[in-house]
Amino acid sequence: MTTYAAPLRDMEFVLHELVDLEAIRALPGLEEASPELIDAVLNEASRLAGEVLAPANKLGDLQGTRVVDGAVQIPQEFKAAYKTFVEGGWPSLKFDPEYGGQGLPAVVSVAVEEMWQSANMAFALCPLLTQGAIDAILLHGTEDQKRRYVRPMVAGTWTGTMNLTEPQAGSDLAAVRTRAEPKGDHYLLSGQKIFITWGDHDAAENVVHTVLARTPDAPEGVKGISMFMVPKFLVGADGSLGERNDVYPVSVEHKLGIHGSPTCVMSFGDQGGAVGYLVGEENQGLVYMFTMMNRARLAVGVQGLSISERAYQQAVGYARDRLQGTLPGHQGRVAIIHHADVRRMLMLMRSQIEAMRALAYTTMAALDLAERAEDPVQRAANQARVDLLTPVVKGWCTEVAQELTSLGVQVHGGMGYIEETGASQHFRDARITTIYEGTTGIQAMDLIGRKTLRDGGAAQRALLGEMEATVGDLEGAGESLAPLRAALSAGVQAQREALEWVLAHGADNPHVPGAAAFNLLMLMGTVTGGWQLARGALAAERRVAAGEGDAALLQGRLATARFYATQVAPRAKAYLEAITEGAAEVMSLPPEQF
Ligand SMILES: Cc1cc2nc3c(=O)[nH]c(=O)nc-3n(C[C@H](O)[C@H](O)[C@H](O)COP(=O)(O)OP(=O)(O)OC[C@H]3O[C@@H](n4cnc5c(N)ncnc54)[C@H](O)[C@@H]3O)c2cc1C
Repeated sequence: MTTYAAPLRDMEFVLHELVDLEAIRALPGLEEASPELIDAVLNEASRLAGEVLAPANKLGDLQGTRVVDGAVQIPQEFKAAYKTFVEGGWPSLKFDPEYGGQGLPAVVSVAVEEMWQSANMAFALCPLLTQGAIDAILLHGTEDQKRRYVRPMVAGTWTGTMNLTEPQAGSDLAAVRTRAEPKGDHYLLSGQKIFITWGDHDAAENVVHTVLARTPDAPEGVKGISMFMVPKFLVGADGSLGERNDVYPVSVEHKLGIHGSPTCVMSFGDQGGAVGYLVGEENQGLVYMFTMMNRARLAVGVQGLSISERAYQQAVGYARDRLQGTLPGHQGRVAIIHHADVRRMLMLMRSQIEAMRALAYTTMAALDLAERAEDPVQRAANQARVDLLTPVVKGWCTEVAQELTSLGVQVHGGMGYIEETGASQHFRDARITTIYEGTTGIQAMDLIGRKTLRDGGAAQRALLGEMEATVGDLEGAGESLAPLRAALSAGVQAQREALEWVLAHGADNPHVPGAAAFNLLMLMGTVTGGWQLARGALAAERRVAAGEGDAALLQGRLATARFYATQVAPRAKAYLEAITEGAAEVMSLPPEQF
């Protein structure tokens, strides 16, 4: 049985030491989130993750999903797990009580979601996409749409999807061709969508698709895309289920990982038109999609963290058991965990997991403040922070997950390459995270364009100012934190230089931002992750000095923060050099020379 006891302790550390939970609890609507309630929720979630979701993970990988008679069948174990998940009230955790939700802060529900994603990423994609669809309806739907659709989706008896992608429209959604013809109080949709996660399945009563499509007289390009809600079963005025709608899964993709998650080709309107309802106003679909996608992007960043945690736990277990080689001072053969190079790999995993967790959770705390703070200035400052860090959490955490799940395989040696151990499943499952909800390239362009050049670097400078304050705090700390001070100070300097370079040269030639974007994203992830570890180390040092807390956990946090400062943080300088020295070289070969 997989347990989540170890990450749970680190999650609690982040929530209690790096997030101002009192400030979150003071926000309107979040008063109920007492420390006792939070601990109880996290403990129960860790049991469900360990006892129900994790055991189904490998079965989902082996069995996959299939289309039979125009409907997707998922593994029996997934159906049973989904039933338990819904009966326990888990889908409703973070939603507004007005729609049957439990109103938990985003910063707490992210810890619960980390456990779901870690236990069974293919399964946990279903609630992740449902949240995207709920957000779309809540943000832009009519009162009647909210009343009829949102409650069962919050309860989990209905699920939701995001139908954006078409064969010719991936990153570039301007190319969407699905048609929506007005007909009375609704529209009739026709067209094909591909790669639709949990597009159909047999675990819920209904599936509500949010779909991007064009009305007949819509302008070309991004300005002519509208958003529609297309339920699998039509919904009566009283919310009861009616006829089967004309939207069907054609096939499920055979893919590298997340086999338990049905990735569907969906056909709309083969029998005359799928009944759809406009969400918001015509031609505003892409704007709406972006408002809801931001939260989904944060959730995918958390997937990167979660799958890395799973790979780490498995690697530690193997490293303790596997005997290879000898070492002075040890009798006989030793477990590989005693070898320095294996420890290097485990420390790379653990320190970056802690950095990702702290970065993702503190960004979620900013989201709670952005959505609910009464002071408009505080709301705006937190929104700017969330906007800036969303592509970093999504892009950096998922790129780091590639490194860490690969290290998870490496720690296993040859057995890591053999499916039996499960290490390779995590590596395969992780691979999608840098691709969907916008590839890393698209995140990086968002970071450098909309989030940096557009505001002249204002949000970046506010962040740099806060990080400099932490450098100041480290100056007053003990000598054991000296490497952190040096690393953070160098990292902040590198990020500032990168920012100034990008602002100065961003307009030089149209390729400069694109060539620098990925390195800027990785630089910022490395530095802001290290910043959060430094904040954690300061808190740990305070607790140790006061003789409080779990000594092993606190010493562990200090050790991983020092490791990160010396072994990971120096990457920031290399990213800076790639930006300032290398951007021109990126375009130096013409396409025909490749
Ligand atoms: C398993 C799986 C599940 C998915 N689930 C969903 C879902 O539920 N709903 C949904 O709508 N879609 C879904 N997708 C689709 C996914 O979001 C797209 O695959 C993704 O957005 C990339 O689009 P694409 O595959 O067309 O790649 P392309 O857009 O063709 O990109 C190919 C490469 O070109 C780069 N590139 C493209 N444009 C630019 C640019 N302007 N600047 C710089 N680089 C660029 C990309 O970064 C990438 O490296 C899923 C995909 C998969 C594989």
